[in-house]
Parts: sequence; structure tokens; C-alpha cells
Amino acid sequence: MTFASTGLDPDQRLARERFAAFADEHLVPHADAWDAAGELPPAVVALLADHGYLGAAVPVGHGGEGLDEISFGMLCEEVGRACSSVRSLLTVHSMVSHAVARWGSPGQRERWLPELATGRAVGAFALTEPGAGSDAGAITTRAERVPGGYALTGHKHWITCAGIAGVFLVFAKLAGEPTAFLVERDRPGLSVTPRGGALGTRASHLGDVLLDDCRVPDDARVSRPGFGLTAVGASALELGRYSVAWGCVGLVEACAAASLAHADSREQFGRPLREHQLVQRMLADMVTAAAAARLLCRQAGLLRQAGDPRSVQATWLAKYFAAGAAMRAADDAVQVHGARGIGGDHPVQRYLRDAKVMEIIEGSTQLQQITIAEAAYMFRARSEPDRAPGRQWSVTT
Ligand SMILES: Cc1cc2nc3c(=O)[nH]c(=O)nc-3n(C[C@H](O)[C@H](O)[C@H](O)COP(=O)(O)OP(=O)(O)OC[C@H]3O[C@@H](n4cnc5c(N)ncnc54)[C@H](O)[C@@H]3O)c2cc1C
Repeated sequence: MTFASTGLDPDQRLARERFAAFADEHLVPHADAWDAAGELPPAVVALLADHGYLGAAVPVGHGGEGLDEISFGMLCEEVGRACSSVRSLLTVHSMVSHAVARWGSPGQRERWLPELATGRAVGAFALTEPGAGSDAGAITTRAERVPGGYALTGHKHWITCAGIAGVFLVFAKLAGEPTAFLVERDRPGLSVTPRGGALGTRASHLGDVLLDDCRVPDDARVSRPGFGLTAVGASALELGRYSVAWGCVGLVEACAAASLAHADSREQFGRPLREHQLVQRMLADMVTAAAAARLLCRQAGLLRQAGDPRSVQATWLAKYFAAGAAMRAADDAVQVHGARGIGGDHPVQRYLRDAKVMEIIEGSTQLQQITIAEAAYMFRARSEPDRAPGRQWSVTT
């Protein structure tokens, strides 16, 4: 009763089945072990590449899959249902691929897109710094013009896939203007320090990236100086937000599936848990949240597919709602499982830790709330003030 296939065309239905089978066979059985080990085996990258998933955001002409927005979303959902660390890899890698495809020069596209599509290079997105989190404009990493290129100096932290990336999309200020650069891992002056012990997405190879007079050639700069955050970063982050929102739908589905199974098999007070009404409340909320979050993600996907600028607002709504839904569903899933849910060997405790991350990354819950409320006032000012807020906000009419 998940309505997951409603509104899909035949190709999308098949794609969804393929993604689900991939996740069930290759990710679900290992996700807890990877989480405990704090890393993904290299074979996972090869597996994603072999199935074409690392080329999801790479145009067909450059060796990618060029997935439509809904199919890409469903891929993130199914991978997110199985393992948020792998979904994180897919997200940041797709963000970098998207940035190169959309903003890169012909030379950059020719050089990097086939590498990214085949997984010969994993992409990482290096924006956040110790002094610049939600306020990305406060980055202090600087790029200086030197003969033949640029010298980058700064400190990026909490970078997903830093441990395995072959190329980093680095954001730095060039003469005070935020600018994006593609920096290969083996550039002298770039070093990575792994960051272990994170609460969630523990296997996503998080790390700090230090740039110490790191020299890159002229053609490492992506797009024009000053376009780093407003164009390159913004469109990559929109894709990332969209991907995370779908990943959260997967997390809610995983919480619901585990809880429905447990409430069916566990008896207390002479009855299965599923017959206790307070447990039913939690099960009903999970099932409803999955359906509602998926609808918001679909709406965002359809608008993205149509190139409609309202997709930006629709993606905020989807990510804000889906991240909160994942957190509540994971909290309830642990509750339904009782002490078993707390045990280190049960996936629901991983879902809870991973869900918390979703409320922080790609625009925290608070930043989404601010943005959504401010945009609602903007819409209100443009339309008749006495119309219902839902109508003013509507992205579908
Ligand atoms: C697992 C993980 C993976 C990550 N991967 C990447 C990556 O690959 N690349 C990358 O560049 N970054 C990455 N990040 C960093 C992430 O983007 C930042 O954590 C995020 O932008 C928030 O920044 P911050 O952690 O510095 O929190 P802060 O910005 O310091 O915010 C702290 C708290 O204050 C709240 N807050 C901030 N400003 C306001 C405000 N104006 N009003 C109300 N509340 C506010 C926030 O919502 C938050 O709750 C990752 C983080 C995590 C946890």
C-alpha cells in the first residue's frame, strides 16, 4: 500500500524494479557491516559504476545514463532505503557530475564526465569550512592567480567521500569572488584527513581536505569568477537536496518495513504488537509519511524535468518534509522494536543515526524553514493577500 509506482510510465516502473532489486541484493545485506567498519569496500564503487548508477547525472553523449529526474529520484530512494552511506556517495558524486555537465568547459566535460560516469574518479563536493557551514558565503579558502593557473589555500571539513574521491569540486574566493575549481586528488598541496566516529552515514568516507598552496592549471576553474556559489554551487546543491529528499523517502520505507515485520511477529500482553492501537499509530504515521514525502519529491522531480524554476521551491518543501519524516519514522521504528531497536546489530538504530544527518545536510531544517517562510511571504506580496496560504504557495497551479 505504498503507491510507489503510481504515475510512473512503463520504463520508470521497470527502472524502479531494477533499482529495488539492486539494493536488496547488493546493499541491504551489507549495510550494517559497512556502518560498523566505518567505510565502504572499493567493490561498491565498481558495483555502482557497472550498473551505470555513477553516470546517472552524466549526459548520454559523455558516457552516462542521463536518467530522467523521477528515475534518478527513485534510484536515490532505493539506495537510501538500503544504505544512507552509499546514497551519500551517489549524491555528492552526482552533484559534481551535474556541475561539470552544466557549468564545465567543453574540455572539462570531455576530461571529467567519462571518468565520473565509469567511477574511475569519484567526485566530492568541498564547500563547508570550519567557519562557514549554513553561511556558505563566509568561506575563507582563497584562490590566487599564479603563472599558468591558481594557488588554492584553505580548509574544508565534513566532506563526504573525501577518503576515496579522485576529484574535488572546491569553492574558493578569487579576488573576493566565490569561484569553483576542479582539483585532482594527487595535486601537490592537497591532503585529506579522515573524520571517523560520526553519528550517521558512518561509511561515507567523511574527511577534512587541506589545501596548502595547492597549484591547479588555468582550466581547473569551473565557470566564471563570482559564479561559484550562485550558479555552480547552487545548482549542485539543488540536485543534492533533491537526492537527499528521495533518500529520506527510502529511509522512511525502511523504518516502516522493519516495524511492520516486528509488530507482526512480537507478542506482548497475549497479542501481537500490531494489534495494540498505540503501535498502530506509529505504523500508520510511517506509511503515511512515506507516501506524502514521495509525492512532494515527485512534484519536485516533475518540475525539475520540465525546467520549471518553481522546482527550487518544490525541492525545499520535499527535503524539509522528507528529512523530518525520516527522523520521526526512525524514532518510532526504534520505539516499536523496544530494546531490540537499541541493539547495535539492528538496522533501525542505524536508520535513526542516519536520519539525524538528513536534518543537517544540504540545508539544515532551520535553513529550510527560514527559506520556505520567506518565500511564502514573497509569493503573498505578489498575489492577493487574502488568498489561502496553501494556494499562494502552491507550486502546481
Ligand atoms: C554527514 C555529513 C556529511 C557532509 N558532507 C558534506 C560535503 O560532502 N560537502 C560539504 O561541503 N559539506 C558537507 N557537510 C557539511 C554540511 O553541509 C554542514 O554541516 C551544513 O551546511 C551545516 O553547517 P554546520 O554544520 O557548520 O552548522 P551551522 O551552520 O553552524 O549551524 C548549526 C545549527 O544552527 C542552525 N542555524 C544556522 N544558521 C541559522 C539561522 N540563520 N537561523 C536559525 N538556525 C540557524 C542550523 O540549522 C544548525 O542547527 C556534511 C555534514 C555532515 C554532518
